[in-house]
Amino acid sequence: MYLADAAWPDLESYFESESIALVPLGSTEQHGPHLPEGTDHLIAEAFAREAADQTGFLRTPPVRIGVSPHHQQFPGTMSVDPPAFRDYVESFTRSLTTHGIDRVIYVNAHGGNVDHLREVGRRVREDGTAFAVEWMWDESIPEQVNDAFEHNGPHGGPKETALIQHLHPDLVHEDRLEDARDTGLVEVSQDVGRVHGARTFYDSIENSENGVFGDQTEATAEIGAQLFDAASDELVALAEWLDEQPFEDLMPRDHV
Ligand SMILES: [Zn+2]
Repeated sequence: MYLADAAWPDLESYFESESIALVPLGSTEQHGPHLPEGTDHLIAEAFAREAADQTGFLRTPPVRIGVSPHHQQFPGTMSVDPPAFRDYVESFTRSLTTHGIDRVIYVNAHGGNVDHLREVGRRVREDGTAFAVEWMWDESIPEQVNDAFEHNGPHGGPKETALIQHLHPDLVHEDRLEDARDTGLVEVSQDVGRVHGARTFYDSIENSENGVFGDQTEATAEIGAQLFDAASDELVALAEWLDEQPFEDLMPRDHV
């Protein structure tokens, strides 16, 4: 069920029997010369839609702009300051709870949002309002993602390229995949940008001239479909697990 398409009597019926919601969140930021700036929110929305369709649980409209200051040098990147992002997410999460939602999955597809979503999850749990948990597709299937590509990348690499080839092939510039590889950073190691143990970089452009990492030519729509199906299974299982938990078990423990 998609909240924005539903009329309130039907949502009222949902809230009478269910108390879980899926909230997709992504970013609008550069994803190299070959992928759309909406890559992350397109991916997040696809996972939320798939899991909602499979489970019957509610999904909400997506949050399409996230915390992306590290991509600001590239044309088109939009970003919000972390405090504004956290307050916004916390605020609409609390508004959902007034209807009876007491557990939320942030279906997230942007690394820059992770810490902030976890902070919001802590806030709404600490006062006993709700249990909100951050979920990211590639972290739900780390071995499969790792095995799928020789040169993976944390941003704009083959894993994201494969997902968009599967979900929105019309938005992928297939003729720029080699260029994306050759003008970016293919080999990503822990040593990149480190000086005597300190991470000395803040922005993606400092490590990659075109803003992306890994070998994009390894991506195919078929691999994207396999990764999408596998991670969707994980999200469905997480939603069903969360639905089954007694609310008290999800709340913080008392002081010892
Ligand atoms: Zn991304």
